[in-house]
Amino acid sequence: MIPIAKPIIDEDEISAVTAVLRSGIIAQGKKVEEFEAAFAGFTGTKYAVAVNSGTAALHIALLAHGIGQGDEVITSPFTFIATANSILFTGARPVFADIEEETFNIAPDNIDEKITPRTRAIMPVHLYGQPCNMKKIMRIAQEHGLVIIEDACQAHGAEYEGKKVGSFGTGCFSFYPTKNMTTGEGGMITTNDKDIAQKARMIRSHGQKERYLHEILGYNYRMTDIAAAIGLCQLGKLEEFNNKRIRNAEFLTGRLSGIKGLIPPGIKSNTKHVFHQYTVRITQDFAISRDELRQKFMNKGVATEIYYPLPIHRQPLYQSLGYNDHLPNSEKAATEVLSLPVHPSLTKEDLENVVRAIQDI
Ligand SMILES: *Cc1c(COP(=O)(O)O)cnc(C)c1O
Repeated sequence: MIPIAKPIIDEDEISAVTAVLRSGIIAQGKKVEEFEAAFAGFTGTKYAVAVNSGTAALHIALLAHGIGQGDEVITSPFTFIATANSILFTGARPVFADIEEETFNIAPDNIDEKITPRTRAIMPVHLYGQPCNMKKIMRIAQEHGLVIIEDACQAHGAEYEGKKVGSFGTGCFSFYPTKNMTTGEGGMITTNDKDIAQKARMIRSHGQKERYLHEILGYNYRMTDIAAAIGLCQLGKLEEFNNKRIRNAEFLTGRLSGIKGLIPPGIKSNTKHVFHQYTVRITQDFAISRDELRQKFMNKGVATEIYYPLPIHRQPLYQSLGYNDHLPNSEKAATEVLSLPVHPSLTKEDLENVVRAIQDI
């Protein structure tokens, strides 16, 4: 079976972890600091704060900006649930703006329509590894005095007009095993703002400013040195992983273009899309239904996945909170998207098998 995602763990990760275990310092320590410095350097930000998940990164970023009860944060409904839930954690209200058809990312024009006097922040999600339209989003944020918190959990190394995502506002990354790089579980906050970085460090560790002096409410969101040791190895290979993803995507698009009812991913010319996912649309014009196509793939030993089958405003949790938005592009995307394997461990033969499964229909 060709899996939809597969982390690449080599001997260097294994020996780096072993060295940490042998050192006896296994919770947050020097390796975390080293990983933070390396990640900040990679993203082109002054500061990076390592945490134990992407969800924790989002939660902390919102809290560090003082967002809470009575505030509204505009985000995409077409994303993983953690994006919107992190807003709920703070007591603020997620407000959903519909997506662009071509990129699946939040549409700047729809953000504009959702701004109220309570809006405090915009949380764009660089979905599938493709940066949002940051020029327009930055302009809207500036005009209305809003904070930008980027959900870059799927976009390590992605660029918009030559600048890395996570450097436009406060950036949030995930290192879950399916992501472009991993630490097992883990996350990172990136920022150029010294105060935000300092607050994030405090919130990560029970609001502690110095040992056993707790100034604000915080959590235990710390990363371990074991995870950071893995992260340092993975970061060193991220460009190579991403280039492989990009080449795999180019191959797939080259072979899957021109098939009736199958729309390959659209790439904006001013972005570097790092293909966390390779997501096509299967429209009604396609020979068979999306479910039937998935079954055909399965029969040929190719795993596929639907990211995401239900937009967040339609999730039971959000229905129970009274959300009844109609966001047509997101709702349509949910019925059409299909992600095919694109990860860096795919062989040439794997890629041929993916293509053949469709061509045989
Ligand atoms: C993975 C992911 C998250 C959450 O990251 P975790 O590390 O799993 O907590 C948040 N947002 C998006 C878009 C993600 O893909």
